[in-house]
Amino acid sequence: MAKDTRPKILFCAFEATPFAKTGGLGDVAGALPKALNAAGGDARLIMPKLGMIPKKYQEKMRHVTDLTVNLGWRQLYCGVETLRVGGVTCYFIDNEYYFRREGAYGYGDDAERVAFFSLAVLSALPHLKGWFPDILHLNDWHTAMTPVYLKTFFQWDERYRRMKTVFSIHNLRFQGQFDPYITGDVLGLSQQEAEYHGLYRNGGLNMMQGAVVCSDRISTVSPTYAGEICSSAYGEGMDDLFRSRRGVLSGILNGIDTELYDPETDKLIPARYSAKDRKGKALCKAALQKEAGLPADPDAPVAVLISRLTDQKGMDLVLRVLDEMLDTGVQLIILGTGEQRYEQALTATAARRENLKVFLRFDEALSHRMFAGADLVLIPSLFEPCGLTQMYGLRYGALPLVRETGGLKDSVLPYNQYTGEGTGFSFANYNAHELLFTLQHAVALYRENRPQWDALVDHAMAQDFSWSRSAEKYMALYKELLGR
Ligand code: ADP
Repeated sequence: MAKDTRPKILFCAFEATPFAKTGGLGDVAGALPKALNAAGGDARLIMPKLGMIPKKYQEKMRHVTDLTVNLGWRQLYCGVETLRVGGVTCYFIDNEYYFRREGAYGYGDDAERVAFFSLAVLSALPHLKGWFPDILHLNDWHTAMTPVYLKTFFQWDERYRRMKTVFSIHNLRFQGQFDPYITGDVLGLSQQEAEYHGLYRNGGLNMMQGAVVCSDRISTVSPTYAGEICSSAYGEGMDDLFRSRRGVLSGILNGIDTELYDPETDKLIPARYSAKDRKGKALCKAALQKEAGLPADPDAPVAVLISRLTDQKGMDLVLRVLDEMLDTGVQLIILGTGEQRYEQALTATAARRENLKVFLRFDEALSHRMFAGADLVLIPSLFEPCGLTQMYGLRYGALPLVRETGGLKDSVLPYNQYTGEGTGFSFANYNAHELLFTLQHAVALYRENRPQWDALVDHAMAQDFSWSRSAEKYMALYKELLGR
């Protein structure tokens, strides 16, 4: 039999769909291993056996082995369970004391829980029935101790020495910052080891810094964001570190679930449509206007904003020019939850302006109906590592209007009035009037040059944001690391 030369990748995350999800990381960890396998990799997933994993999966898991993990002075039980889902072999690190809890994070002993998981992953590798990864792909601070432990405790073994590490940052706001007093007692490291492997930062302990120092490659979820985090405006206090690692830092745009978000098959929208035949979109627009209590006018541009209502999402800009935006005659529908100050201000404006409707709730089905019924999706973010709603908008023929930052910049091509090219609209600076002028420009185009608008919708709907595109880029990165 020919030797299997596919790169072996162990994708390591604290959450992954369909087992557990609290945010975008769960989606990525659920989708990417499958896409890597389709792109010629041999990818498996490893995560904690969290209490929130549905029973139907827990019951089907098979026991692979159990071992003792020595975390400092603690001798801890570590079970390894396995299950194959969607063609991907998944491993689950079992320790009921640490993981059998209602949520995934937010506990007082999170430092100890993630340290245990990070060390357990490495300890489990020789027990995976002869499958030893070439690449360990780590994600966010919950797995940040793995490269540190790898460098500290496992270098005597050639299999570990040969293995390469990739550390992906999905959310730079959470870095795993703790009091350095936990170094010995909780993490099981000497001060010298912690210092040497970059765990200390500004007098505190920062797990993410340890991973950035010790990993072979660092990636973020869009190329532009990879560059932005090297500047003080976006670096969350770590920009000097990213600048020093610029040579091994890159960005790969996330994909979206193109089956769940497909206007041709979506059961959550009132009528289905395709790029070629957009009659269904007109029906979706009329239904959305009715649902929101807006006049059912096919010629009124409908803009939606579907988002957490926070400063990151540009809510300060929106509120600054909300009245002027509404003066353009756009029908604006907002779906979101978040900070009270934004919720209150939006509700107050909606009470006195007829063309603004606000839904303060989380409602996935309504979000689909909004993408399908809208002409425009507004995403004026302060920063956006990747962002998904612009890609959903493109797929549903609702042109994104974005600020040029992070993944928004990488996925939306601004309309060029001279060449007719583009898939949306964008503005550069974090400035409310730039948002306003860009919206005025978009509304004018919609009203005055519908054939051009329709051509932009054609371009938008032809974009490919499937995971296979991202997976190919990750495969190229792994191969480069492995010298293949
Ligand atoms: P972030 O992860 O920073 O919140 P993303 O754009 O990456 O932003 O992902 C947000 C996801 O949550 C999108 O799928 C968006 O449609 C969805 N979403 C946000 N707010 C709501 C809401 N109130 N109701 C339904 N879906 C929402």
